[in-house]
Parts: sequence; C-alpha cells; structure tokens
Amino acid sequence: MPEKKEEKKTKSKTVKKEKTESSLKETEKKAVKKTSARKVKEAAANVESEMAEVMVAADGKAVKPARKTSGVSKAAKEEKPAEEKKTRKTVKTVKVKKAEEVVEEKVEEKVEEPVVFEEPVKDLGPRRSVAFIGSECYPFVKTGGLADVMYALPKELVKQNCDVKVILPRYKCIPWKYQEKMVYRGEFYMDLCSDGRQFYVGIMEYEADGVVYDFIDNEEFFTSGNPYTNMVDDIPKFCYFAKAALSALLYLNWIPDVIHCHDWQAALVPVYLHTKFENTAIARSKTIMTVHNLRFQGIYDMGTISYWSGLPDYVFNKDCLKVGYNDANMLKGGLAYANMITTVSNTYAGEIQTEFYGEGLDAHLRYHSGKLRGIVNGIDCDIWNPDTDQRIYTNYNTEDAIEKKKANKKALQEELGLNVDENKFVIGLISRLTNQKGLDLINAIVPNMIDGNTQLVVLGTGDPGYEDSFRYYESAYKGEVCSNIMYDEDRAHRIYAACDALLVPSLFEPCGLTQLIAMRYGTLPIVRETGGLKDTVEPYNMYEDSGNGFTFDGYDAGLLLDAVNRAKTLYFEHRENYDKMVIRDMQKDVSWENSAAQYRELYLQLRPE
Ligand code: ADP
Repeated sequence: MPEKKEEKKTKSKTVKKEKTESSLKETEKKAVKKTSARKVKEAAANVESEMAEVMVAADGKAVKPARKTSGVSKAAKEEKPAEEKKTRKTVKTVKVKKAEEVVEEKVEEKVEEPVVFEEPVKDLGPRRSVAFIGSECYPFVKTGGLADVMYALPKELVKQNCDVKVILPRYKCIPWKYQEKMVYRGEFYMDLCSDGRQFYVGIMEYEADGVVYDFIDNEEFFTSGNPYTNMVDDIPKFCYFAKAALSALLYLNWIPDVIHCHDWQAALVPVYLHTKFENTAIARSKTIMTVHNLRFQGIYDMGTISYWSGLPDYVFNKDCLKVGYNDANMLKGGLAYANMITTVSNTYAGEIQTEFYGEGLDAHLRYHSGKLRGIVNGIDCDIWNPDTDQRIYTNYNTEDAIEKKKANKKALQEELGLNVDENKFVIGLISRLTNQKGLDLINAIVPNMIDGNTQLVVLGTGDPGYEDSFRYYESAYKGEVCSNIMYDEDRAHRIYAACDALLVPSLFEPCGLTQLIAMRYGTLPIVRETGGLKDTVEPYNMYEDSGNGFTFDGYDAGLLLDAVNRAKTLYFEHRENYDKMVIRDMQKDVSWENSAAQYRELYLQLRPE
C-alpha cells in the first residue's frame, strides 16, 4: 500500500506541476484576452453609441443613415410607440452580445479583425394590411399569369412589412396535398340574390411563406374541375365570390387597410363595399382594382347580374355597370368604384386608353385615368432559378450557362424526339393558344423559320384551330418541330432552360411573364413592342452591344420573320455577342422587389378612413 501512496504523491505532484504550468498559461491567455476584451468593449460601446444615434434617427429627429435588419422595420414601429421602446432595447442587447461573441472567437484564434456588425436597416415605412382577392393562385390553381402574380406579389409584400391575406375560391381541382393541410376557420350563411336567397360560406385556411390564404368553400359554385367554365355559370359564381370574400373578412374580423382586387372575377368587391357593405366595419378599407387582361370583363345580361349580385338598381347605369343596350360589365363597375386602378405595365396603362387596345372601355378608362397607374410584374426568382430548379436536366448559373444550356438542349431534343444537335438554333413558344398571343404571325412564318438549322418547340393549349395548325407543323417537319398541346409546368421549365430564344409576338400583352422567365434562364426573347413586352425587353443594339432581345413593332409576319432572322444571324455569325446577351439577360433584375415596393407605395397613399 505505501508504494501506492508514493505513486499517488508523485502523480499529484506531476498534476500540480501541470496545473501550475497551465494556470501560468491561463494567466498569459487572460492577459491577452483582457487586452482584446477591452478593445472589444470599446467596440461594443461604439456600437451602443451608434445604435443610440440610429434610434434618434428613428424618431425622425436626426439624420443618421438608416440601417438594415432582417426583422421588423423601425418605421413599422412608428405606429406603436409603446412597443417601439421595448423593441429598441432588445435590439441593443442583441447587438452588444453579438459583438462580444465575435470577440470571444477572435481571441481564441488570436486574429484581430474588425468587428463586423449587421447590415444597415432599410426603412420600410409603416406596416400595411392588404387583402388580395382573385380567382386563381399558384400553386393551388393556375391558368395563366394572374396565378403567378397572386402567389409571388403577396410573398414579396410580406418581406416589405405588409400583412397579406389572399382570398380564393376553394375549387375542387386544388391538389389534395394542399386541401388536406387547410384548417377550418368557420362558416355562415350569406344572402346573395335580389330575392334574398341564402348561400353557405365556409372558410378554410392555409399558410405559407408568411402569407395567409383563406379559401371560400361552397360546393355549389366551386365543384367543377376548371375555375372558369362558361359565362352562364361563371357570372353567379363570381358574384357569390366577391360578396363572400368581403363577408369572410368581416366574419374573421380582419379589416385590412387595402383590399386589392384582381380582374373581373373580383371586380364587384369595390361595388359591394360602397353599397351593401357601406355601413359595416370594412367600409373603411380602400380598394385597388388591378387589370391583368382587359379583354376579360365579365359582361352578361344585366337582369342576370342584377339578380345574382343583389346590387341596387342605381349601380346599373352608364357610368358604372351598364354597357350596350341591356348588358352589365362587372369590371367596368369595379373600375368606377375602386380608389385606385393599376395595370401590369406602364405601356399597357397608356394603350388601354386607346380604341385599339381599350376593348370598349377606353373612354371609361380615360375618364378614370387620374387614378390609373402601371406597375410592371416580376417573377418569383426562387421558383424560376436555373441554378436550383429541380425540374430542369442540368442546373446552371452565369458562370457555366453557355455550356450547360447546351446539355439542357440535347436532353430536351432527346425527350421530345427532335433531331439531337446542340448546334441547332432552338426556338420555344410557351403560351395559351389564343389570337392575343400573335400565333397567326408564327403560323405564317414556320415554313421560313425551319431551314435545317432551326427547331421549334411549342407548349400550349387553347383554340382548336391553333392546336391543329401546330400539330400539322409537327408532322410536316418531323424532327424539327415539336408541338406539345398540353399544360405542363415541368415541361415548361425544361423548355425555358433548353431553348436559345423564346417567341412572344403578341397582338397585345398587358405584361407577359414568359419573356421575363426566358431572360432569367438565358433564353433570348423575340417580342413585339407592345405592353409589358416593350417595357421589359430592351432591343439588341449591335453598335453598343447592349439590349436583352430582338423586337419588332408592327403586327406583321414579315417583321416577326425579320426579328427571328436577326436573332439567327447573331447566333450563327457572332456567337460571342449572342452569348454575352445570354449572360446579360440572366443578370437582369426581373424579381418582384421593385414592383412590390411600388404597390406598397400605393397602399401607403391610400389611407383608410
Ligand atoms: P397569360 O397570363 O396571358 O397567359 P403570361 O405570360 O402573363 O400570359 O403568363 C403565362 C404563364 O403561364 C407563365 O408562367 C407560363 O410559363 C405559363 N404557361 C403558359 N402556357 C403553359 C403551358 N401550356 N404549360 C405550362 N405553363 C404554361
């Protein structure tokens, strides 16, 4: 046992020695730490004093530049002064803590780098609550660009200090994966028709990306597979929807600052607000009517609209709903009663006040032009991102787009049964097949376009005449033309990624999203200079080597062919310049950020009563 004691003693001595050595080292370390910690404290103190200055700025008494945080903006807090102070204190502590954490790490590494603070706060202004009301919204139900806007704009507005609720019909065709996640929020009965008939209104809720979606549930109106069927059914459906949307907001006691209505399906909302709902809490909300496509207005026999809407007779006059001898126009009523009208590009805002583009409402729009604005659409850059898009064959970014787009091209050619050749110039068309989209021009030039070096890929559904003509071209030019007469989101992504150019020669185009998506994927748009196409595609300038695509002005097949040939010449003879434009287009800002900020500006201008 004594041996063991001796061993213990020796051990404890060694341990003590080690301890002393290590404590010496610790003291050294602490000394280093102290010096650095002092520096850090000084830095933290600086932060505090800077923060104090910034806070003064938040009160509007100083002019220190604003700083950015990812959280709620300072200006948002302006509306709630009591909360403001609390939040400020929290921010302060977090900042100082952060500074200390940074230093602790730096001490261990013994590297002294300048302390990095948070990004400057962007002053977002006061918070606004907005209810979007519309008939379709990606990813629940989509027939065109409206659905993209109803999805992407609220998502961006949430980032810009807005509370957004999106009110939609609960169509039966909404995929089950969304339906099963909806939460029941309540139900009630609402009178609708002029004879006081009662209808059930259920509210089912779904939340994603900070946006709350409230679906109006009624099996009688929303059981069909497609959101739009025929006017006989659609008129009652959207009279019901407009009134039910307002009633649901009241039921939920959610009174927004602004009610943002989209297209004719929601156009009765401002009319209801100023008539049937004028003595309710929601009458304080302001309304915006956005026209996504003036061609669709919800026109039907006046007696039918009067019966189903239950609206008072005085709104069925020439200045409001009445058109022609005995018809009513739901969009016209919405435009008359809305506090503000917007459409989806500046050029279209001007065009619709002319007879050619006005679809019979040009005089009405000229009369209301004082409250009309154009704000161009953006696209959701998370969904449309060639670098991360899971639906395309090979991901790419501006570094490797030229090579990787070739891989996408070959894979698409294989998938579609086209002749596989990466050197061919592949032109895409992704569109509803209607005469709005300039398909007559395309039909007229296909034989001139398909010259052995060029291929055409069509994706679309619509008028049977156009569907058949594209089917014909596929059989006439086997291996060079492929017509996909279908609606297919996945295939659309692959076509955007694989093509060299995309055709959008529209007769009129309020904004157009396909040219924006094409640019994001480095696919050069060939467009007619109308509406949003004019506002978003700068024509290629060979002298300055600038621009984003190829454009033509008159609605003429010869001019379209000329634009296609200019694109081909650049592709086959000056590839370097073509490739530079591919990269330039991919770098172009087509996001919602700017446009959402403009909508926000409007919301701020529209002060609720
Ligand atoms: P519009 O709303 O007039 O139909 P837009 O250019 O504003 O035209 O929006 C069209 C949207 O619909 C784009 O997102 C486009 O990719 C998509 N799209 C059009 N046709 C098809 C199709 N057949 N398959 C898949 N997506 C399509």
